[in-house]
Amino acid sequence: MTQTQPPVHTAPATPEPAPTTALTGQPYEYRRHRLVEPDWTRFPGWRHVTRDQWESAQWQRVNCVKNIKQLRTLLGGTVDEHFYADLEADQRALATMSMLVPPQMINTMVPDAPPTTEALLADPIRRYMIPVASDRRTDWPSHPYATRDSLHEHDMWVAEGLTHRYPTKVLAELLSTCPQYCGHCTRMDLVGNSTPAVDKLKLTLKPVDRYDAHITYLKAHPGVRDVVVSGGDVANVPWRSLESYLMRLLEIETIRDIRLATKALMGLPQHWLQPDVVEGLERVARTAARRGVNLAIHTHVNHAQSLTPLVAKATQTALDVGVRDVRNQGVLMRGVNASTTDLLDLCFALQGEAGILPYYFYMCDMIPNAEHWRVPVWHAQQLQHDIMGYLPGYATPRIVCDVPFVGKRWVHMVTEYDRERGISYWTKNYRTSIESADLEALNKRYAYHDPIDTLPDTGQQWWRTHRDD
Ligand code: SF4
Repeated sequence: MTQTQPPVHTAPATPEPAPTTALTGQPYEYRRHRLVEPDWTRFPGWRHVTRDQWESAQWQRVNCVKNIKQLRTLLGGTVDEHFYADLEADQRALATMSMLVPPQMINTMVPDAPPTTEALLADPIRRYMIPVASDRRTDWPSHPYATRDSLHEHDMWVAEGLTHRYPTKVLAELLSTCPQYCGHCTRMDLVGNSTPAVDKLKLTLKPVDRYDAHITYLKAHPGVRDVVVSGGDVANVPWRSLESYLMRLLEIETIRDIRLATKALMGLPQHWLQPDVVEGLERVARTAARRGVNLAIHTHVNHAQSLTPLVAKATQTALDVGVRDVRNQGVLMRGVNASTTDLLDLCFALQGEAGILPYYFYMCDMIPNAEHWRVPVWHAQQLQHDIMGYLPGYATPRIVCDVPFVGKRWVHMVTEYDRERGISYWTKNYRTSIESADLEALNKRYAYHDPIDTLPDTGQQWWRTHRDD
């Protein structure tokens, strides 16, 4: 057995005292929190894991937790049987994503102590990465208008995996897997393994044919200047294939922005620190710079607890090799981050400690069994109001609602809002690829729905009566 070495940092994250010049009595008091890699040896199953093992992407991938048995082995007796029964009930009937959590992410749950059942149940990372049945609502587990592909991305495919929704930009889904599966995944229709509740859509083309089809479409459509290269998560594309795809994009004169979508920058930073990946990223960044193309990484961090020195190191490495910017697109969720303090703590940690620009928070989409996570539009508007003025303006994130058939709208852009029934109405200023012949598309109003349990009694009663309308 390899000898145990201490982790990088073992001290718990303690906030620094507020400077004496700080204004007091503000709704939010800024304190600097330096990043800390929690001590993974507090988990019985990782008591003998060395720093070399921890920092190995391969070790992280091999030791991902994929099922209850592995979780039980890891946690030992720190968590009681009710928790596992709760988890099993969720996986059997409710979960839309299968379980896949890298050690790096598990280690950010209950970071200061061996996890007890109560602490684990209350933990914000656990609440979206390892959902249990008792988290979900029993009155309204799903909104009546929830759908598997709530943003209709599949309907807007112009080639397999290539969604053309906005006039000048496309989303390229290179594959349907990630190194980690998030319970609230908006692409639950396609991403990950099937669960008892969801039989997933499958990509059918060979990757090489899928990528060829994307490139052919983009060459034929010079009006598209911006490609979000996503999945799944690009960290699961073998590096040589990803580099080849990116270099082919960079050969298309009309492409001016490329954004790589990878939650793994946070969930598995070890991947982005592997020498072959770093060297390859540098080649791509150099080529992008030579051609005047903006190359950025977009990641997905939902809580300050997820940020550790390894995440900051992976981010800094990407910036050092020439990636122009690393930005965060979090998801707003009840029980995870839907408070002013949680959002500002996260944004200050992203901006001040990890080198990641707070960019967007999306409202959680209207997928099945997600009502316990979703917040109403008025709550998102209140949060947007309450986070203004603390961060630098350029680093103050916008909270957006991704309205079906519309796209991202800032939450204050709602044109009409029925608070009693929780229906907001939105307009748009472009046609999606499936509306090119619809002359009325820009004159219509498009609806988004608040979670019903947040409505006044009269509104909830209305939905009970009209449940099947
Ligand atoms: S990393 Fe992104 S695509 Fe993958 S499961 Fe999470 S939210 Fe979905």
